[in-house]
Amino acid sequence: MNKNSLIYVAGHTGLIGSAIVRKLLKAGYKNLILKSHRELDLTNQKKTEAFFRKNKPEYLFLAAAKVGGIFANDTYPADFIYQNIMIQTNIIDTSYKYGVRKLLNLGSACIYPKYCKQPIKEESLLTGSIEPTNEPYAVAKIAGIKLCQSYNRQFGTNFISVIPANVYGINDYFDKGGHVVAGLIKKFYEAKIKGYDSVTVWGTGKPRREFLYVDDLADACIFLMKKYSGNEAINVGRGRDTSIADLARILKKIAEFKGKIIFDTSKPDGMPQRLLDSGKITALGWRAKTDIEKGLRITYEWYKKSIAGK
Ligand code: GDP
Repeated sequence: MNKNSLIYVAGHTGLIGSAIVRKLLKAGYKNLILKSHRELDLTNQKKTEAFFRKNKPEYLFLAAAKVGGIFANDTYPADFIYQNIMIQTNIIDTSYKYGVRKLLNLGSACIYPKYCKQPIKEESLLTGSIEPTNEPYAVAKIAGIKLCQSYNRQFGTNFISVIPANVYGINDYFDKGGHVVAGLIKKFYEAKIKGYDSVTVWGTGKPRREFLYVDDLADACIFLMKKYSGNEAINVGRGRDTSIADLARILKKIAEFKGKIIFDTSKPDGMPQRLLDSGKITALGWRAKTDIEKGLRITYEWYKKSIAGK
């Protein structure tokens, strides 16, 4: 991939896609193809194919997906499995047909078994049952990885897959259907502004997640696009996890909220722990740069200015 390559970032308005675009532009890649959901419905095979026929991208970041937190996954399982299977199948197959030189597919750490040896190595994939709250989404994402691997084996394509830790950052989705960081930022912000006595955190607060700032993931994706061509999916994390209770305490401090934190144990915890072994990408020479407090502060300030302030 060089500065003049024709690069399609699928899903460029989302959390991860928009961060990849920011990084690419900053690094001097000028030839980006970007299509909003309204302009191109990637669940539609004919439209996807017509788009590839016309645009012929050389490199592709597959960040288009139906995503959401524990509540959305549990409430809309059909949307999660259907849309993700359709989007990735259309893109991956059409990329093969139209000769995309390299494709980077984004997986998710929730594809690993619910009870998995920590930190989780790539080899743990498909060694146990998946956490039920996100199983339909996870099955779709596993299929995406298997599609890439199978096309590589059968057709000699260069389609790689990345498995990121829990990603958060600017441009995240801050409503009830979103992930925990965005959900809690909104809750603490509103509690502070409206003078509430308490903030309710779902579950026991005990689950542990590895929170990765989105710009670090975007950096890793561009790094891997340039440096990695293996058939094995590759983990991307920062090597440290945080309990949901500690996450809530950090956000409470950032929001300068003086009230209580209440845990609603009627809500699901999901996977007890999810910490990736990122030894493979580290060995290639990549490392995350943003510590959790800094990433949360940037995201909180962005939310205040760009979402809450509007
Ligand atoms: P997961 O990482 O796939 O389980 O998805 P989430 O990011 O949605 O949730 C992570 C953990 O945070 C789960 O244990 C949730 O129950 C917990 N959690 C606590 N409060 C919230 C909240 O306000 N929103 C979300 N999405 N999760 C929360």
